[in-house]
Amino acid sequence: MTRLISAKTILGSSASKVDPWFGTSYTINLYRGCSHGCIYCDSRSKCYQIDNFEDIQVKQNSIELLHKELRSKKVRATIGFGSMNDCYMPIEEQLQLTRQALEIVNIHRFPIHIITKGTLVIRDIDLLKKISEVYAAVSVTITTADDKLSKVIEPNAPLSSERFDVIKTLSDNGINSGVTLMPVLPFINDTRENIEQLIHKAKEAGASYIIAGMGLTLREGNREYFYKQLDKRFPGLKEKYIKAFGDKYNCYTSQTNSLYNYFKQECRNLNLATKPGFYSPPVNRQTSLF
Ligand code: SF4
Repeated sequence: MTRLISAKTILGSSASKVDPWFGTSYTINLYRGCSHGCIYCDSRSKCYQIDNFEDIQVKQNSIELLHKELRSKKVRATIGFGSMNDCYMPIEEQLQLTRQALEIVNIHRFPIHIITKGTLVIRDIDLLKKISEVYAAVSVTITTADDKLSKVIEPNAPLSSERFDVIKTLSDNGINSGVTLMPVLPFINDTRENIEQLIHKAKEAGASYIIAGMGLTLREGNREYFYKQLDKRFPGLKEKYIKAFGDKYNCYTSQTNSLYNYFKQECRNLNLATKPGFYSPPVNRQTSLF
């Protein structure tokens, strides 16, 4: 079910803060809720107050607001697409809000960083090329190299192999793209084989970086949903989680550090960065002379 809503503002955060993972300062969410159904999704947390998370709410005035807000921004800083939902979930095919937002961003010459699992992002390559003249990065989230497992933990999202194909198409078109490898779920995808295969497939696809976040965060709202899904998809695992993590927010195991070290080493071996290069504003020529 979809519902039209009106937003008061559309850009979150401010230019003075830079997200250390993605280099973003502003965030944009054109929709509320997400239909990809990832069992671990943090956006289901109660603090965000999104009821019926898979019923999508469409911010019908978002494009108009974006135009207005970008016009008034004095500082050009990176806009992050995809923080609370996937801006390329299936509804976007018909509504094209993300595409319209990219058109506005291009007019105002702002840098962007998109995080997505959606194959639809390749539809917008023409615009991404134009925005790349300022700065664009597309991080495709892939948590497992195994299609069968991706279907279990991200049931309505494109398969992992389809997402590697997206990276290939983006990189073949000269778009700066990489992988977001997060979350790494304890006892599910936290294996060396998974990390190794994923890094190698990312490299083959032409990714220039992989941003990895080991472990998982759980809090009220997403914890209950995740546990319900564990009962359904991995019988017996919920009990293991409860024993290992209780009601902790950060859930990672004693192997997490060694897994992360392995990840960094393997990326170094393959000449893959563990962060994208961030946007840096052009230096004012006159100032640089002095
Ligand atoms: S794609 Fe992102 S926002 Fe959507 S359900 Fe998955 S984790 Fe949540």
